[in-house]
Amino acid sequence: MGLATINPATGETLKTFEPLTDAELEAKLQQADQAFQQYRKTAIAQRAEWMQAAAQILESNKEHFGKIMTLEMGKTLKSAIAEVEKCAWVCRYYAENAAEFLADVPTQTDASQSFVRYQPIGAVLAVMPWNFPFWQVFRFAAPALMVGNVGLLKHASNVPQCALAIQDVFDKAGFPAGVFQTLLIGSDRVATLVADDRVKAAALTGSEHAGASLASACGKQIKKTVLELGGSDPFIVLESADLEAAVTTAVTARLMNNGQSCIAGKRFIIAEAIADQFERRLVEQYQALKVGDPMNLDTDIGPLATPGILQDLDQQVQACLEKGARAPVGGHPIKERPGNFYAPTILTDFPPGTPADQEEFFGPVALLFRVKDIDEAIRLANSTSFGLGASAWTQVADESSRLIEELDAGAVFINGLVKSDPRLPFGGIKRSGYGRELGIQGIHEFVNIKTVWVK
Ligand code: NAP
Repeated sequence: MGLATINPATGETLKTFEPLTDAELEAKLQQADQAFQQYRKTAIAQRAEWMQAAAQILESNKEHFGKIMTLEMGKTLKSAIAEVEKCAWVCRYYAENAAEFLADVPTQTDASQSFVRYQPIGAVLAVMPWNFPFWQVFRFAAPALMVGNVGLLKHASNVPQCALAIQDVFDKAGFPAGVFQTLLIGSDRVATLVADDRVKAAALTGSEHAGASLASACGKQIKKTVLELGGSDPFIVLESADLEAAVTTAVTARLMNNGQSCIAGKRFIIAEAIADQFERRLVEQYQALKVGDPMNLDTDIGPLATPGILQDLDQQVQACLEKGARAPVGGHPIKERPGNFYAPTILTDFPPGTPADQEEFFGPVALLFRVKDIDEAIRLANSTSFGLGASAWTQVADESSRLIEELDAGAVFINGLVKSDPRLPFGGIKRSGYGRELGIQGIHEFVNIKTVWVK
């Protein structure tokens, strides 16, 4: 796919971009390498000042940046503006906490002095997806730059203007030239890039296929990767749950970002005793949603990012329906208007062997399962190859303890929505990836953890 801005709400190609030539890419790698030699020596307090400036730029221009996101990938403008605010938060969080997270850690041994020191490693490549085109990049970049690494961004091909705007934020904030660079290239050039000695490690957020491909390219070069991949997260509601709160949160959990979030609740696993009531209320709330132009501030659901995503999603839905699943609401694309709009959909009563068993549905489609008790709920929740975040609803303490202990996931949220928060580590297990972003754990991924021992 070429690098282009194509408005998902209309299908119109607004701007195309030429990928970097080999010579231009080489110049950027050289610049990154040179920048690192100087940048690694800067004081953390200085980096923090630049990072605070980046936060300020984001906040002062949140509507401008929000509109670029909405234009390129179709998220609602209100959620795009909130995303910019969250980026400012992660910049501030690491600006304020990096010195503490990176301080030497003294340890008593047989030495007169021994400690651990965290040091930067050099240029780190970030291969990023379009679904949170600012947030995914800032949650990588804020800790990486505070450590003293330099960043190279290969963003998704459908968000080139976001990619360029992000480099501009860091440049304007005062970071030296070359500390953060956007590389306008297609994914076919990633393997060559990671084979270059000047690239020391890579992070990827995206599909399993892309993650496996990057990890094998890095594996051949003995370079570290952090992978944040897909999910089919469970949203479990047991009989004792506050049903009203669970249903309202379920709508947000499934439909945020027009349904295209890795940590969206995708499989709603509901105790039989309350399942009919849950379904009825969920249908009511779905029917009240306003689907339309994502630039309008009162729109709830905008288009999917590309025609390909819409097609893949519809194939999954039709495969479920053909096998006998039921759709109490939705179940089809919206054809009355241009763009990649899909009707908010609920599917239920699955016979065995549909895509609902194992696949990620990346769009506004809730999969509703009925279970007899907590044992069956946990078994079903753990039955996919993914393990990103799990949300579970109960008011019984013993049930809560079991869910925390037994759910196979990188995160468990009890009586709340799975969300990322700069203060908490974020990442998955199983085929959802490995490594962590955010929190103190996130800043320690791309560092040399140097052991120092002095006689
Ligand atoms: P994608 O196709 O994997 O794209 C993500 C990035 O990887 C893009 O920059 C893409 O570049 C690049 N890429 C694609 N194939 C590649 C390859 N073979 N080698 C190297 N790079 C490659 O993912 P998507 O469909 O845009 O995003 C949706 C997926 O991301 C979902 O599965 C979702 O759950 C997951 N996701 C996970 C998280 C998380 O934090 N765990 C967050 C958001 C999304 P091009 O655009 O140029 O192809």
